[in-house]
Amino acid sequence: ALRYHQGWDKAWASPAPKSSYDVIIVGAGGHGLATAYYLGKNFGITNVAVIEKGWLGGGNTGRNTTIIRSNYLQDPSAAIYEKARSLYEDLSQDINYNVMFSPRGLLMLAQTHHEVRGYLRTVHANNLQGVKTEWIGPEKVKELVPIINIDGPRYPVLGALYQARGGTARHDAVAWGYARACSAMGMDIIQQCEVTGVRSEGGKVVGVDTTKGYIGTKKLGIVVAGHSGQVADMAGFRLPVEAVALQALVSEPIKPCMDVVVMANTVHGYMSQSDKGEMVIGGGTDGFNNFTQRGSFHHIEETLRALVETFPMISRLKMLRQWGGIVDMTGDRSPIISKTPLGNCFINCGWGTGGFKAIPGSGWAMAELMAKGEPGPLAAEFNMWRFREGQFIDESVAAGVAH
Ligand code: FAD
Repeated sequence: ALRYHQGWDKAWASPAPKSSYDVIIVGAGGHGLATAYYLGKNFGITNVAVIEKGWLGGGNTGRNTTIIRSNYLQDPSAAIYEKARSLYEDLSQDINYNVMFSPRGLLMLAQTHHEVRGYLRTVHANNLQGVKTEWIGPEKVKELVPIINIDGPRYPVLGALYQARGGTARHDAVAWGYARACSAMGMDIIQQCEVTGVRSEGGKVVGVDTTKGYIGTKKLGIVVAGHSGQVADMAGFRLPVEAVALQALVSEPIKPCMDVVVMANTVHGYMSQSDKGEMVIGGGTDGFNNFTQRGSFHHIEETLRALVETFPMISRLKMLRQWGGIVDMTGDRSPIISKTPLGNCFINCGWGTGGFKAIPGSGWAMAELMAKGEPGPLAAEFNMWRFREGQFIDESVAAGVAH
């Protein structure tokens, strides 16, 4: 500011594309950038381009409500989300960029007896998986969240699944930090460059057509979240993924009133307070497939109506902004990190409503898959053929509504 915002060093370079690369990643969201970063860091592969049709982090990564947790039910999910959560713990030091990771504690409220049983089961599973979570009663919930109404009337708080090291991070900073680290390793981040076609020969990708011309590659990673179906279509294969908008909104900033993250899945809403003081509020997905990256009025009503009973004080708040992102939903609500029918083409998608928390772990696993050509233990179960074979990793309770 003292220099009138002049003379700042660029955080990453904006080069013109080279004629070819060892690896092209399509999509400069968190998952694409993290994949590139760990390709460089863990495998020394740096002749990499990350190609982005808009601006980096402008997709879901810059639109999400930043909740980080790893309290999933199934073993493969707990493993990859806990890997990601543990990488978040010192990500700022690793990439030398403050991602503002704030392990402030996360509560998933149980407001029906069915939820109580479900979350008790998750706590037991988490303890076996080495993920630290606990069941807490309503009095402890009230102690942690003084603004909550635990008495109902429709849905009293019966307890909560509590993950003390869950929390939030700054979403843009995660994308910017990885981007700067990739650029420092000599990788090219090419923005405003849409991939419009995938060329293959003899069952292998040879390059991509883009709005900045043809670029050759030895390996291709598709990491485009809500647009996975379209890019897979360019490569000639189909994915079991649907695109749907997910919305969120923030209130005017107020004094600190809640220093944990609270998710209320029965009433379909969740809330945390940002460092600026805004209440960050999220709801469910739209009930129909669409590609609209914006909010809609009925969602404000539905989400706030749901939360007002549990947090009566928010009825007095003015809502400032509302937005949407296009999320990629699979049938079992678990991601895909997989080889594809094309030998040197790999896909990472299906994170749906909850992939921000997974970014470091997903990038780690995808980099291993792309470097070795075979999945490591973190990615092995998340192959795209599990839908054909009925090997679902069912997280519809943990991830269908929650984020
Ligand atoms: P994106 O960040 O969407 O990146 C994909 C990129 O690919 C985009 O930048 C896009 O422009 C680019 N692209 C697409 N097609 C092409 C093409 N043809 N050529 C070049 N580039 C292309 N997750 C959580 O863990 N916690 C939360 O609290 C949470 N809340 C959410 C709230 C909302 C409102 C939304 C929308 C999502 C939320 N999520 C949350 C989900 C999370 O944001 C996503 O799972 C995650 O960000 C996906 O990251 P990504 O890198 O795969 O995708």
